[in-house]
Amino acid sequence: MHSENKQTMTGNITFTIIKPHAVRNGHIGPILNKISESGFKITALKMLYLTRGEAQHFYKVHRDRPFYSDLVEFMISGPIVVGILEKENAVEDYRQLIGATDPEKAAEGTLRKLFAESMRANAVHGSDSDENADMEATFFFPYSERF
Ligand code: ATP
Ligand code: MG
Repeated sequence: MHSENKQTMTGNITFTIIKPHAVRNGHIGPILNKISESGFKITALKMLYLTRGEAQHFYKVHRDRPFYSDLVEFMISGPIVVGILEKENAVEDYRQLIGATDPEKAAEGTLRKLFAESMRANAVHGSDSDENADMEATFFFPYSERF
């Protein structure tokens, strides 16, 4: 057993994905570096392929949007990196670090300004609420993989 594993208090974690193009283009290291420099503790991390079903499930709130099927194909086009990040006010602070969904509108120094290629290939995902952060983290990481 891993006695050091812990459950974190709601509000202190967020969940991130480094999307396929960012992995393909060698941006894992620079993105993780920015995350650490910005005061987030990486408490879980792994590289994997999403199945089509998982990608459809993950983005199901967008299933009626015109970009949905291209988004799902994009998310399964290569391996991704998933992680849990811990920090006070994690969800909101990480959304700040990521920048706007549209990289053309993302502020200087944000991950999307630095690493996004387009609205779809926008480098990273970050949870949009504490509830979703917990659900997303739980989906990808059993407690034996969270530290
Ligand atoms: P994410 O959920 O990935 O963190 P977000 O919360 O900034 O991003 P959402 O509105 O939840 O943005 O959209 C989910 C993802 O769908 C976006 O990150 C992007 O990859 C894709 N997407 C959103 N809008 C568009 C669009 N108009 N055209 C193409 N892709 C889009
Ligand atoms: Mg979103």
